[in-house]
Amino acid sequence: MVLAELGGKLRDSLRKLHTHSGHVTQSHLKDLLGDISRALIESDVNVKLVMELRNNVNDKVQTLIDEDEEKDSSKNSDADRRASQVSKHVQKVVVEELVQLLQPQRKPYVMKRGKANVVLFVGLQGAGKTTTIAKFANYYQRRGWKTAMVCADTFRAGAFDQLKQNATKLRVPFYGSYTQADPVAIAEEGVDQFCKEGYEVIIVDTSGRHRQEAGLLDEMAEIADAVAPDNTVLVMDATQGQAVFDQASAFSNVVDVGSVIITKLDGHAKGGGALSAVAATESPIIFLGSGEHFDDLDPFNAQSFVSKLLG
Ligand code: GDP
Repeated sequence: MVLAELGGKLRDSLRKLHTHSGHVTQSHLKDLLGDISRALIESDVNVKLVMELRNNVNDKVQTLIDEDEEKDSSKNSDADRRASQVSKHVQKVVVEELVQLLQPQRKPYVMKRGKANVVLFVGLQGAGKTTTIAKFANYYQRRGWKTAMVCADTFRAGAFDQLKQNATKLRVPFYGSYTQADPVAIAEEGVDQFCKEGYEVIIVDTSGRHRQEAGLLDEMAEIADAVAPDNTVLVMDATQGQAVFDQASAFSNVVDVGSVIITKLDGHAKGGGALSAVAATESPIIFLGSGEHFDDLDPFNAQSFVSKLLG
């Protein structure tokens, strides 16, 4: 189920609560939680997380519904008013739990002006890492940050050219090498150089490869050791479904993933897999990628994302 459909399904399920003057019985609640769980699972949200959400909502609203059912024998306007408050409360709890699903405890790294903020980008090949780096550089440069890029991907032929092309279009300085094969040395040299030159946002691209194989993960850990990033951003592809959860765990076992960017949420991505993978990294989503152009990067806020989803 794609995101727009998920929004519609969730909206319809919540709307049903307001029928019967808002009286919510145990059976209405069971139906609601069943509908919501099905919709989330069909959108690729991790099943364990869906069960947690279901239990949390159930626990939080149970007492209120029990009380309401007891008092419900009096068919008067007071009972209706109370009932409508119950349905509003259930709706509020569902929204809170959806926000919770997308928003781990950890707060996003805040860039600091006037100092070097080293941002390491990691992710599998094809996730959209190089494109996202260009968008990220564009975002900060436009807001007046002195921004530079380092290409530490020596594995994929053409990676440096791709970064160079983007950097040139954006007029962002870049560092890389056609001859140096050691990505750790390049990352270190590039970051050192831009630190000395007073750059504020120094973005480091790493190699992607196809799977989260040991070699890639070791290399990433070595680069992270060498450049001591202030923030490590994991780029995840929204079209990859449930698989993204395992990828996210593999990456965050090796480097300290501080933030997540989800790409390709335009088009027909289900999105639930990537969106709920924040639970595996326990770090917040900071941007969503919504297209192939440099401007297609939207800051992420869980509350407004859920509000928009539910219309
Ligand atoms: P990398 O291997 O992770 O560096 O991936 P690339 O940056 O080369 O991107 C792979 C493909 O995904 C390219 O065709 C990009 O144009 C495309 N892409 C990246 N981000 C997005 C996005 O947010 N939306 C869409 N539709 N395509 C994207």
